[in-house]
Amino acid sequence: MPEMVRNKQVILKDYVSGFPKETDMYMTESSIELQVPKGSNGVLLKNLYLSCDPYMRPRMTNIKGSYVESFKPGMPISGYGVAKVLDSENPEFKKGDLVWGMTGWEEYSLVTAPQLFKIQHTDVPLSYYTGILGMPGMTAYAGFYEVCSPKQGECVFISAASGAVGQLVGQFAKLLGCYVVGSAGSKDKIDLLKNKFGFDEAFNYKEEPDLNEALKRYFPEGIDIYFENVGGKMLDAVLLNMKIHGRIAVCGMISQYNLDRPEGVHNLMYLVTKRVRMEGFLVRDYYHLYPKFLEMIIPHIKEGKIVYVEDMAEGLESAPAALIGLFSGRNVGKQVVAVAPE
Ligand code: NAP
Repeated sequence: MPEMVRNKQVILKDYVSGFPKETDMYMTESSIELQVPKGSNGVLLKNLYLSCDPYMRPRMTNIKGSYVESFKPGMPISGYGVAKVLDSENPEFKKGDLVWGMTGWEEYSLVTAPQLFKIQHTDVPLSYYTGILGMPGMTAYAGFYEVCSPKQGECVFISAASGAVGQLVGQFAKLLGCYVVGSAGSKDKIDLLKNKFGFDEAFNYKEEPDLNEALKRYFPEGIDIYFENVGGKMLDAVLLNMKIHGRIAVCGMISQYNLDRPEGVHNLMYLVTKRVRMEGFLVRDYYHLYPKFLEMIIPHIKEGKIVYVEDMAEGLESAPAALIGLFSGRNVGKQVVAVAPE
């Protein structure tokens, strides 16, 4: 008889409008067989770390035709995570493998159509596969090197700069010899940007009465590259400060995710007069570069040339608060939830 165990889960109560709250999710406990049904293609995972990511907010809304699938009320939510394979009927995975990819917000997940990468390098913290070595790391890599067309010496601005993606974009730009400025929402985050990640300058956008003035102070000659994470007023101010032939890589617009009606953008005409290329991208189009990315990033991590700051919440119970914290900037660095000991 296969072993049955209790399985704690995080359930979405109902579709969300406005800012998400902890009470939009609740904990429940069900039971699960620690065996994959014979003849299926599934794997059974023991979840070790779960990743809190901003794109999970749109999934809490019932939108048809979105680039991501909505969560289902009454069901466990899902997202990226790091897990151990306990049983497998899938030829690509075997018991004992460590993997990262799509899993459930629960202690154990039966994944029937695995979207998982096998973890090859285990001499780095496993939680890194929710961040620097996972989806956010690939986002920073693809967004900066593939979309921004960066050159040595260019002036680079990054918003939400201390987060999972931003802290890496800034370090990649510094490695290339760029002048790098970041914005973030607290004094601690500004200290991190300047003293831990090596940004040339950083400012707290919440303390700037005029974002245009702030950008003029740090970029008197203008911005070559803007790595867009927030949208809204920051994008409008950046548009006024781009150099001719500048590039804007649109990674995300977190300031808009909880609004019923997105804010308008007023200064788009500057794309014309400054001949700026503004391009959105999704990390999923770049996963073929993952082996090349690992080849570059693993030595940098081991040599200490790239550092990564994580904000670790302990236990599945802390996951709802950790997730909603992204939208008030409570996370300092990559928000991870530790579910079970490795
Ligand atoms: P993160 O920066 O680790 O966390 C989100 C941060 O956004 C918060 O800590 C907060 O930092 C900031 N924020 C929240 N509300 C804001 C607001 N109203 N205005 C300005 N800043 C706000 O998140 P991440 O994982 O690195 O993601 C960053 C961006 O990349 C998001 O827009 C996300 O959707 C996007 N993304 C896109 C892709 C893709 O494939 N295109 C993949 C991954 C992520 P402060 O304290 O600094 O405000």
